[in-house]
Amino acid sequence: MIKSINPATLEEIGAVEETPIEKLDEIFENSRKAQKMWAKVPLAERARRVVDVNRVISTQFDDISHLISQEVGKPPDEAFVSEVYGVADSTFNYYSNVVDILGREEEVPLGFYESLDKRSLIIRKPIGVICVIGPYNYPFTIPFQQIVQSLMAGNSVVFKPSSETVLTGKKIQEIFDEIDLPENLVQTVFGSGSKLGNPLIDNAEKVIFTGSTATGKRIMQRGANTLTDVDLELGGKSAMIVFPDANLERAVLAARWGCFTNAGQVCASVKRLYLHKDIYDGFLDDLVRKTKELKQDIPTKPNVDVGAMINEEQLNWVEKSVKAGIEEGAEILVGGRRNPNFEGYFYEPTIMTAESNDMKVVQEEIFGPVLVVLKFEDEEQVIEMVNDNQYGLTSSVWTEDIEFGKKIAEEINTGSIMVNEVVYTFALAPTPWGGTKNSGIGRTHGKLGFYEVSRPLHINIDEYKEPDLWWMPYDESYKEIIENFKNIASSLVVKDNY
Ligand code: NDP
Repeated sequence: MIKSINPATLEEIGAVEETPIEKLDEIFENSRKAQKMWAKVPLAERARRVVDVNRVISTQFDDISHLISQEVGKPPDEAFVSEVYGVADSTFNYYSNVVDILGREEEVPLGFYESLDKRSLIIRKPIGVICVIGPYNYPFTIPFQQIVQSLMAGNSVVFKPSSETVLTGKKIQEIFDEIDLPENLVQTVFGSGSKLGNPLIDNAEKVIFTGSTATGKRIMQRGANTLTDVDLELGGKSAMIVFPDANLERAVLAARWGCFTNAGQVCASVKRLYLHKDIYDGFLDDLVRKTKELKQDIPTKPNVDVGAMINEEQLNWVEKSVKAGIEEGAEILVGGRRNPNFEGYFYEPTIMTAESNDMKVVQEEIFGPVLVVLKFEDEEQVIEMVNDNQYGLTSSVWTEDIEFGKKIAEEINTGSIMVNEVVYTFALAPTPWGGTKNSGIGRTHGKLGFYEVSRPLHINIDEYKEPDLWWMPYDESYKEIIENFKNIASSLVVKDNY
């Protein structure tokens, strides 16, 4: 059995049976059968049947939020807004748009070849069995959205939740079991990634993985054996850049929420705060004061802002990283230790300053409630500092001059960037989600997400009645044809200036 432990109280809240590795062949066989049936269902009907999860979820908003809260350690209201609402909103969005995105035949202009009565169409087809491997930090909304997009596109899904959040994984399976889908279209397997990972990758047509960069690289390496396609949503070290003309009151609250929501266990968390030298002291004083006001407690109690981290191992990792930062010369302004008032895995909201962008605390992901603050002089310097990092998931620029903000945004090497916002764009279902560099490859959500879970099929149609010009025999008359081709090729030289 895999036990689920409440990280705030250390109570066992339930358990699920581990999936025996020998069962995976049968699971994939059943998945393929279900997928074949499902692919024949018209796209609009598939979308209508899948969106019915929203009806099921709407009857259990509080139960699901509470379950996530108990299993991950975040306040239930936060779980509702960031996870349950996120699923309802995105599922509705995908339902509303999928026919437009995947259902259209795209006619492709063919230039010269059209004169020979040829035309080309591109349509989107399902890929097959998609394996969704989920992380522990947003165990509901992240895999759920990936499953919804995969199903609407006509695939079947084998889903492996994190071993830390098996009950939320089980809940997702139960929700899909309640709607009208072919048997085995969605199947959930439970077990550690080290045991189940390889056979999952070997058997699936595609893996959508969300988790750490180290695991993502392992998955991609394994996928090379079978050329299993991968979509990797990995770690981050997001920056927030604040210029003096920003709405500073709002920016302080954004930095606080952006760093400490979900106890900092967010791939898109504000992890690096770059403050312009003219506002550095005042902004930091205010942020530290407001951080001290946060209430950290058992998350199911009323009015709690920050809950627990997921487990001892992650907490130890954060502790070790902060200590290493102090040894490097970072200065702690608030927090900097495990919260001594609890037996559970609570780490205090922590703000530390760093002198140099090269320090490890600035460069490496610390997956917990830890913010590192740096000073900058001008825009060129800050762009260089922000880009000098192995990760490229998301970041933000704060200024009231939107054109200037956009100009800076364009220089930052990330998958997305916000002007005057933090973290939340994961929730925007129609926009692409994914990173650059060590933050991953591929995109989930929106049109690009649907493209990731479908394959383009190019259909070429020929209504020419004569043999094609370039067919054999290559005799004397062929030379004339070649001369004609040369004339056409010469006419393709572009003579205008740029
Ligand atoms: P992990 O990489 O530890 O685990 C993620 C999932 O991968 C789990 O289900 C895990 O299973 C599984 N897994 C582990 N080893 C393998 C393997 N060899 N083959 C296949 N699957 C495997 O990540 P965390 O759960 O700790 O999540 C935190 C990380 O995820 C952070 O780095 C964070 O930044 C990133 N993340 C990225 C997001 C994005 O959208 N870019 C969003 C959310 C998080 P098990 O744990 O059961 O062994």
